[in-house]
Amino acid sequence: MSGPQLLKENGPREVFCGLTSIVWLHRRMPDAFFLVVGSRTCAHLIQSAAGVMIFAEPRFGTAILEEKDLAGLADAHEELERVVNDLHARRPEIKTLFLVGSCPSEVIKIDLARVAENLNQKLAGKLRVLNYSGSGIETTFTQGEDGALKALIPLMGETTKEKLLMVGTLANSVEDRFIKIFNKLGIETIESFPPRESTNLPEIGENTKVLLTQPYLAETVRDLKHRGCQIINAPFPLGIKGSELWIKAAAKAMNKDKNVDEILNPLIIRAQKALDSHKELLSGKSIFLLPESQLEISLARFLSNECGMKLLEVGTPYLNKELMQEELELLPPNTKVVEGQHVEKQLDRVRSNQPDLVVCGMGLANPLEAEGISTKWSIEMVFSPIHGIDQASDLAALFSRPLRRHEILNH
Ligand code: SF4
Repeated sequence: MSGPQLLKENGPREVFCGLTSIVWLHRRMPDAFFLVVGSRTCAHLIQSAAGVMIFAEPRFGTAILEEKDLAGLADAHEELERVVNDLHARRPEIKTLFLVGSCPSEVIKIDLARVAENLNQKLAGKLRVLNYSGSGIETTFTQGEDGALKALIPLMGETTKEKLLMVGTLANSVEDRFIKIFNKLGIETIESFPPRESTNLPEIGENTKVLLTQPYLAETVRDLKHRGCQIINAPFPLGIKGSELWIKAAAKAMNKDKNVDEILNPLIIRAQKALDSHKELLSGKSIFLLPESQLEISLARFLSNECGMKLLEVGTPYLNKELMQEELELLPPNTKVVEGQHVEKQLDRVRSNQPDLVVCGMGLANPLEAEGISTKWSIEMVFSPIHGIDQASDLAALFSRPLRRHEILNH
């Protein structure tokens, strides 16, 4: 049987930058603060992407560097230290501060690692300062999480104790559900990274079995491997089948897979029933996924295999074949998977194919809707609790809702 067709494309991209991931990371770790070192554009992006936070005491901010701050590099470093000291004095409850780099050339010149190191010496015991890049030149939006997690790894202690470590941000409710299932299987030593408290980092070592919850954490995986952790190969926990195989792979790795079917089968039967009404609407409809979140391949596998959708093209900003191997094997034969982007050529293909639904970034959704093509924002996939067997119908609903709306508007 032939596998998917793997193609590459280069050209102009239309993808959010890594700063966007601050929106879900700050929710996950309420004791952390994300200070974007950037321009007014970065401040606007963060404010609009995280607009819901303006009524609360925010846990992100932007140190906007004006020309005057950049008269000399030393001034920029001092200015940044001053902003951090002010923040620490005002918000002593913040335990971890991430300095997040961005695109402007002035920012690129600043050595954020050195600033973080200086601040760590001065604020030792009170605040931990880390840095990573969320720049749109280097990262697409989900890679911001990869950078933040990678920055935390050196702070994780050593252990030889056997444990299951779920890696990647999950909604707390979904995390609780997974822990409950793993406990039922007899797996008691289970932790998550990132944790709910930034200072409560799991210890890791050669007996740590890493179970990835998100496909966009290639750098984090590399550093965890360097620390001796073992990576469990599995598809990602999206949809019923993906979640089932993911749980089974973890159970096998932890040697607790004796009664796994007995525990999962009732959940699977319930989830299949809940999925039926969405399947009715989605089955036979065509879908085109533009590259943005790196979740596209897993979503395509779910939409095709469990919802009967026809995959026209599956874009992904990056394809890490090692992490995605199990997913690629589950795609229907000859599925067209395109890594990278030439946005104009891709839009031409969308127009000539006239799909029933397009998954894309917010910037492309409005023009496509104006042309009568239904769209779904890919950013919603990272903000919604979509992982797990129980969540499969909610995941399908994200795709059936715009189709239903389109049908209503056209009758
Ligand atoms: Fe800031 Fe660059 Fe992101 Fe624009 S793309 S918001 S300049 S980091």
